Amino acid sequence: MPTVFNSIPEIRNALKTNREKLGPEGIIGFVPTMGALHRGHAALFEAAAAECDLVVVSIFVNPTQFAPHEDLDKYPRTLEADLELCEQFGADLVFHPSALEVYPPDFQSYVEVEGITNSLEGEHRPTHFRGVTTVVLKLFNMVPADRAYFGQKDYQQQLVIRRMVKDLNIPVEIVTVPTWRDPDGLALSSRNKYLSTDERTRALVLSQVLNSTSAQLQQGEQDIQKLITEGLVQITEAGLKPDYFSIADAETLEKLCEPCQKMVLLVAAQAGTTRLIDNMTVELSE
Ligand code: AMP
Repeated sequence: MPTVFNSIPEIRNALKTNREKLGPEGIIGFVPTMGALHRGHAALFEAAAAECDLVVVSIFVNPTQFAPHEDLDKYPRTLEADLELCEQFGADLVFHPSALEVYPPDFQSYVEVEGITNSLEGEHRPTHFRGVTTVVLKLFNMVPADRAYFGQKDYQQQLVIRRMVKDLNIPVEIVTVPTWRDPDGLALSSRNKYLSTDERTRALVLSQVLNSTSAQLQQGEQDIQKLITEGLVQITEAGLKPDYFSIADAETLEKLCEPCQKMVLLVAAQAGTTRLIDNMTVELSE
């Protein structure tokens, strides 16, 4: 099993010792997670283990990225199984701090990325990215690594983190790992645990809409508005409640009126009481 650290001084000390052992060429990889780990998280551990000499995983359900009405209290916590998955997929150290360790009672500093956080997830969850960027910067300071691994599953999030790292000159390289899906197309998510069998079947519409929209764009479809309307209809007819379905520039997330070379299709919808997100990049040949 990987060694588990609960306090900030302990994990800092462990990183320092390992850094000394590895020498100046050693590469430390870091994978921040909220636990309830699944094969999608494992893909990040695998990618890190393949490229780094030491892999550190954090497991921390970050309260500041949940709005008061969201699922912080019922978010799944499965530490024993998480540690086994960490072991199986090459994580060496696990940092599992308490909420009080990360946010002591006198805590009063937050990090905010502007612009790219305004649309999509930021529009529907207005305090979300402020919580994400705050905790990720704090984690980068607690676990000083060379590379940090994020999933494409949270497409806007990895762009926001990249923006923060660039704007604030944080000395870490961000690596984005492709979304891991079940064989039927559903993107793995810790929140899939909330889905009933019926809701899970209905949720397959999300990857189906992304695939069919991508195929139409590849075949030369120019009418973005038509594609969006059709996608929203399909999602609604499957019994989900869409928050958004957007076709955007893959780098800036600006909504497109006509196709461009590198696009991303992004969707968010409620299946029952569970909110799901998914995305797919589409690159047109020149
Ligand atoms: P979370 O525990 O949901 O905060 O996710 C931790 C990291 O795992 C984030 O960088 C996510 O984007 C990534 N992740 C979650 N689900 C998947 C998936 N299905 N495939 C790849 N990465 C994922």
